[in-house]
Amino acid sequence: MSKEAPIVIIGGGMSGIMAARTLREQGYKDILLVEKSRSVGGRMATRRIENGKVDHGAQFFTVRTERFQGFVDDWMKNGTVKRWFGEDHPRYFSVEGMNSFAKKLAADIPVRLQTKIEEMKKQPDGYVLTTDQGETIHASAVIVTAPAPQAKALIESGGLRLKADVIQKLEQIVFQPCLVGLFHFIEPTNLPNHGHLDAELPQGVLRLVDHEKKGISPIVTVSVYMTGEWSKDHYDLSDEEVLEKIKQLTRAYVNADSLISSQLKKWRYAEAVQFLRQPFLNTNLDHPLLVAGDAFLHPEDPAKSTRLESAFLSGVAVGEELIRLLQQYSS
Ligand SMILES: Cc1cc2nc3c(=O)[nH]c(=O)nc-3n(C[C@H](O)[C@H](O)[C@H](O)COP(=O)(O)OP(=O)(O)OC[C@H]3O[C@@H](n4cnc5c(N)ncnc54)[C@H](O)[C@@H]3O)c2cc1C
Repeated sequence: MSKEAPIVIIGGGMSGIMAARTLREQGYKDILLVEKSRSVGGRMATRRIENGKVDHGAQFFTVRTERFQGFVDDWMKNGTVKRWFGEDHPRYFSVEGMNSFAKKLAADIPVRLQTKIEEMKKQPDGYVLTTDQGETIHASAVIVTAPAPQAKALIESGGLRLKADVIQKLEQIVFQPCLVGLFHFIEPTNLPNHGHLDAELPQGVLRLVDHEKKGISPIVTVSVYMTGEWSKDHYDLSDEEVLEKIKQLTRAYVNADSLISSQLKKWRYAEAVQFLRQPFLNTNLDHPLLVAGDAFLHPEDPAKSTRLESAFLSGVAVGEELIRLLQQYSS
């Protein structure tokens, strides 16, 4: 294995960031996080609307494992996150928006933004990755954290042959989309004081969030999340048509006449509705190539759904596994 080339982590969402942090904390400094978007964060996404903000991916996170709780306690102490609402499993949110939180977590990690890995080939001493700008990046080991369907397509793009059981596992993971309407109003909404509503909503509407009430925006910005089924049925309509339907469905909760602007976010891979009960997938090739992400549920995770915590746990676990593999190679 090439000692010259860095460890490359593809995808700068929670999983990729935590994998990178885990490696760096154990002294593996020669790493590169490659992200196709303009910012790290992935589904921890926040958009600016005028001088306001609106989270339009993960809104909050809950905590079900001690490991995650330890980190959350630190983030609470340094003021990055706050408790939002809920008693049983309190919801926590990032005080500056989810994307700023991701940026803080990634602050010390070498990152290449706006770089999409389009092809991946095996070499005698590791992997060679080709970017959308036609550049090549050599890697001694690779962790892929793109959602599983994209991860599989990427790994197979350069003719790399995966073992049948690895292919089968990746194909078991199924994501559903989510359409999110983002709105700016002049007048306050009728949403609860904390700004979140996810019960007794019209069919098709999953959740509404008022970010002024949430405390992250000085102006009234609202995100409306549609259910997986609704999003699937309406995914191919134009943005204007989808936004019009969302407006009609949510009139009772907002002051529709004071609408200033609206825009749509389409998440093709929003939530894994079929996932694996293992924290990552090792392709078992002769140079480390591991796949991680929120769809890999840690056996210690008592939840039955994928979310920010599962992405966190997967990222930490895949980082630890790579350290174990690298130690094996060097001994
Ligand atoms: C609408 C929505 C609402 C949600 N609400 C909640 C919530 O309230 N609470 C909660 O806990 N969770 C929520 N989630 C889930 C949570 O956001 C995810 O579980 C978590 O952020 C996933 O992190 P990840 O690192 O696994 O994947 P991602 O965040 O998807 O990161 C993968 C990254 O890989 C990058 N990438 C992909 N392919 C390439 C490539 N070829 N080259 C370079 N980069 C690439 C992508 O751009 C992306 O940044 C929500 C998700 C969505 C979409």
